Amino acid sequence: MNAHYCLTCLESGAELSDETLPLRNPDAKAPALLRTRYHQTRFTPGPPDLGIYRFSDWLPIRRTLAGSCSPITFRSEALASHLGLSQLLITFCGYWPERGARMLTGTFKECEAYSVCARMWANDDRVLVVASAGNTARAFIRVCSDNGIPLVVVVPQRNLPAVWSIGPVAPCVRVIAAAGDSDYSDAIALAAIISDLPGFVAEGGARNVARRDGMATTVLSAVDTTGEIPAHYFQAVGSGTGAIAAWEANLRLIDSGDYGDRKMRLHLSQNAPFAPIHDSWMNRSRDLVPIDEDDARRRIALIGAKVLANREPPYGLRGGLYDALADTGGTTGVVDNETAAAAANLFERLEGVDLEPAAAVAVAHLKAAVEAGQIGASEAVMLNVTGGGYRRIAAELDRRAIAPTCVIERDTFRPDAVSRIMTELFARRTYA
Ligand SMILES: *Cc1c(COP(=O)(O)O)cnc(C)c1O
Repeated sequence: MNAHYCLTCLESGAELSDETLPLRNPDAKAPALLRTRYHQTRFTPGPPDLGIYRFSDWLPIRRTLAGSCSPITFRSEALASHLGLSQLLITFCGYWPERGARMLTGTFKECEAYSVCARMWANDDRVLVVASAGNTARAFIRVCSDNGIPLVVVVPQRNLPAVWSIGPVAPCVRVIAAAGDSDYSDAIALAAIISDLPGFVAEGGARNVARRDGMATTVLSAVDTTGEIPAHYFQAVGSGTGAIAAWEANLRLIDSGDYGDRKMRLHLSQNAPFAPIHDSWMNRSRDLVPIDEDDARRRIALIGAKVLANREPPYGLRGGLYDALADTGGTTGVVDNETAAAAANLFERLEGVDLEPAAAVAVAHLKAAVEAGQIGASEAVMLNVTGGGYRRIAAELDRRAIAPTCVIERDTFRPDAVSRIMTELFARRTYA
């Protein structure tokens, strides 16, 4: 199934076969992303019952997995008329059964998990290692548990309330908590140590093409619904991987020859007072603003949308966020907790579903952009509602907390110590 694409290095232009590559760009410090090139250049989605794999022509996968759901897109009436927009498309990931959305972990991180895990060979016995603030953890736990894929997810201990599952979790999944006041970046650091050990493989984040192309299905869903590329794209960003993916989907649709050559303006929002992507783009600089560790910790503690707290977004590298914003005439914005909460209430009242805090940031940004006159009333706007429906999940489904398999202190984040802990952990066949 892997012959349907190859990879292009955005630095050298070289074409690579994906046969033997690791999940991320082999050169972890490479100044450029790899990008997939699919032999099928036309956009020909399959039927909805294939879940995310209805877009498998444009996913770098070797198999399909059980239990996936595609993003859904509909034309908003209530929010659209409230904002005075005639073409507002809401692309939704999460749990909203009436609309056909059944992502049981509540966010668009499922799109990447079903793509990343399907890119791995079925007989790959390495343990996949993923760092997460919570949403990615739930998504990978679900895919790996349901499909028997060995997984270690690393989350900050204080984000553990966000780590839950619907129904039991299979023993092939282990949750490791970075102790105390560790944040997402500490989880990333610990995950990097684990994935360097023999027998483990790093998921790779934005550098994993399957992650980006999985997230690109949000845009594919929108274009499948309307038959055209929207003029504007709104999303709350932490790493910005989803936004890079949206831009890449756009380029792919242009290359198909069937959708014209419009580039959606990316409108990317962050949660004050932690907004390094916004701050960097305000400077119109390819360099990310310097981030002081203590200052970042303090700011991250204050934001409501914890998934937007990424201190190392793929910003300046070739094919990254800076290029995506520059190529699309993009903008960035910043939204405080109160404004996001008000937007969440507005959205729930008008559209009828509760929002993940990050998705509320995007709604608030859209509202502010409309009020500032940045969006024409009749332009097609795609609002990427990256997560929602938690209330219904909690009320209707068998939601269970997941206890960590072990908790590791920050002063133990050393290869020798972590190696000992992992050896001990994997000597036990199951956890509980
Ligand atoms: C991860 C996440 C985001 C941010 O996505 P990035 O690709 O990291 O920028 C936004 N909303 C939700 C609900 C998320 O889980």
